[in-house]
Amino acid sequence: MITLPVLNGKRGLLLISVKRLFPDTKENILNIKALTVGPIQANCYIIGCEDTLEAAVIDPGAEADRILLSLAESKLKLKFIINTHGHFDHVGANKSLKDATRAQILIHPLDAPMLNQLSDAAASWGLATENSPPPDKTLEEDDTVSFGNITLKTIHTPGHTPGGISLHTDGYVFVGDTLFAGSVGRTDFPGGDFGTLVSSIKNKLFVLGDDVTVFPGHMGTTTIGQERRYNPFVGERGVL
Ligand SMILES: [Zn+2]
Ligand SMILES: [Zn+2]
Repeated sequence: MITLPVLNGKRGLLLISVKRLFPDTKENILNIKALTVGPIQANCYIIGCEDTLEAAVIDPGAEADRILLSLAESKLKLKFIINTHGHFDHVGANKSLKDATRAQILIHPLDAPMLNQLSDAAASWGLATENSPPPDKTLEEDDTVSFGNITLKTIHTPGHTPGGISLHTDGYVFVGDTLFAGSVGRTDFPGGDFGTLVSSIKNKLFVLGDDVTVFPGHMGTTTIGQERRYNPFVGERGVL
């Protein structure tokens, strides 16, 4: 498990309450918990509403038992399993989580076909994973997901995959493998396109505002402002 160091606790819908859902995270992190899961070290995020104890999990790539334990420790009821894209390192625990909680699986329609090809995709990396059930609903541009007092808005950010999405709420955005701290997502997988990725980042993510905290699918958090200025690929001083 990692804890996230960058939240300042002063802004954003998610940090209004003084109750703490995840007592083992750092002081100001009230209701977002990151677990780094699986052999490819993907970030799985649990977001909980402190009022209703309803929760969503973004990108349960592996280690369902750890995710379920974390939900149970905070007495959270899982309502939604949201996949930022269909790569197996982000969806590999969909089935186990759904079997245990009956939460709804949500993914963009263009990446939904990947959900029943996970075992083949993982095998190409020499790994094993279970296929996912099909989505209960699909998420397209501007669709929202609400649980408790939290609403996540869908931003279609293709490029890493055709159906890549980011989930935005006041002050925060979960971007999957579209944008990283100091880097951008790979586009050499099937369906990837570098120009599309750059357009998604510049036209859909950088416009969210410099103060927005970015939760990527791998490695640590960053902010839109940091990447807009300094990202070596897409920032103001970058090469593109
Ligand atoms: Zn990916
Ligand atoms: Zn990934």
